Order: sequence, then structure tokens, then C-alpha cells
Amino acid sequence: MTIKPKRSLGQNFLLDKNIIKKIAEIGNIKSNDIVIEIGPGTGNLTDSILKKNPKKIFVIEKDYNLAKLLYEKFKNKIIIINKDILKFEPTFFSNEKCIVFGNLPYNISTEILATWITENEKFKSYKKLILMFQKEVAERIVAKTNSKDYGRLSIISNWRLEVKKEFNVSPNAFFPKPKIDSTLLSFVPKKQYFKIKNPKNIEKITKVFFNQRRKMIKKPLGQIFKNADDVVKKLKLNMNLRPQNLSPLNYFEITKEYEDQLIN
Ligand code: SAH
Repeated sequence: MTIKPKRSLGQNFLLDKNIIKKIAEIGNIKSNDIVIEIGPGTGNLTDSILKKNPKKIFVIEKDYNLAKLLYEKFKNKIIIINKDILKFEPTFFSNEKCIVFGNLPYNISTEILATWITENEKFKSYKKLILMFQKEVAERIVAKTNSKDYGRLSIISNWRLEVKKEFNVSPNAFFPKPKIDSTLLSFVPKKQYFKIKNPKNIEKITKVFFNQRRKMIKKPLGQIFKNADDVVKKLKLNMNLRPQNLSPLNYFEITKEYEDQLIN
């Protein structure tokens, strides 16, 4: 069967064998690990993962033709789920032995990341996430305080995940070639992280700040709190700073203060 890549499903298949091998290595897969690969496509990365002998491999592929092709190629060596990852609630993922790989359409990587951080009831645990992003988005995710790329994505990703930039991937590694550069990131859940009741509140708070990223933080603080002056004193914030100068911890503390005030 010949496969004509579907642009609507963001199909850019990885062909570069060295890159594929390097991605599989990052999983550091042990014999009792369960691997989940999202958007396996024609199964090139799946092949490399299989060689690491995990306990089980689940793949989730939206394209029916590709799911069929994968079945012909791998038979019962892998478990194929022909579903859209955004509409599928894979509760069995909640497992400390799960390693998740995804070389996916970039918008889907970002959405998965956001969901798997903020909906922690659904996805209680996993060992590692390994996802491909558009290079510019990856830079925003790993950005440090005070840098131009620092913002909501960096803060939210940092909340309960240890984020690591693995490497950049050139368009030449794919067929068809995408127009942009890609970057592979990995995410490992932190053992300890700042307790927030509802992580959606981190999104809410950072949105208020970064929607006006050039303004001093006095303004967003005033919008969020009636008693902004007290909050500033309590959290030892400097009113003359701008949103990009506050650390992730500052934002988590502001979020907690907001949550505490909601209750009282
Ligand atoms: N990982 C493969 C394929 C990359 S192309 C490789 O590296 O070669 C992206 C793949 O994601 C395609 O196979 C596409 O069909 C699949 N895909 C796109 N949207 C998806 C979704 N919402 N759920 C599951 N798979 C999806």
C-alpha cells in the first residue's frame, strides 16, 4: 500500500534513521515499561522503540489507513488504537511505568502538554513525555525568567514537570519536509511541586499578566486583587517589575493567594 501524506493530519514522517534512534534512546526504556506512542504514522519510530523491548506498546493513530498499515507491519507486537488522541481518554496512561512518545502535529503536542499538566485527575502519572514541537514553541516552553520567550507556556510547563530540551531536528529529517524547524523536548513529573488547588488558575492568572506584558505588574495585580497592596507585601513583590521578571514560583504564590481569597 502506498501512503500519500495527508496535510490535514500534519503528516510529516520521520525518515532520518539517526534521529529516530536518538529519540528512542531518550525514553531509556526498561523491560517493565509501557510505551504509548501517539501518531505513529508509518511506524518508523515504533520500530526503534520495539527494539528496546518494553513490556507493551500502545499506539494511537487517527488515520484509519495508517492504522491498517501498522497492523500489517507489526501484527500483534503492538496494540493499535485507531482514535483521535484529543477525543480519547486514555485512563490507563496513569501509570508510573508509562513512557509517552509523540512526533505529532505541533498544535496537538501543545494541546496534549496543556491537558496533561492541568488535568491532573485524569493523568495522574507517567514516567516521561517525549514530544516534538515547532522550534519557536519549544523555546517558549523552556524559556527562563527575564528572557524574551518567557511567558505562560514556560510557567505552566514548569509547574509540575521538569522540562528538558533534547535537540533540534532539521526539516531534512522528514518527508515531506516541513517549512519549519522542530525541537524535541522531554518532560518528567517533579516529585514535589507547589500545591495549587486548580491548575487552571495558573492559566487564568498568567493570562492576566501576560496579556499586558509591557505593563508593570501593579496593573494586573490590581485587576486580580482588591487588596493588591497587602498581597505585594506578603509575597514581597516589587511593583515596578514587569510580568517577564517574575519567577514561576512568584506566579504559583500569586495563584495560591488568589485561590485562598476565593474561599474566604
Ligand atoms: N510519528 C510518525 C508520524 C509523524 S506524522 C513519524 O515520526 O514518522 C504525525 C502523525 O500523527 C500522523 O500519522 C497523523 O495521522 C497522526 N495524527 C494527527 N493528528 C492526530 C490525532 N489527533 N490523534 C492521533 N494521531 C494523530
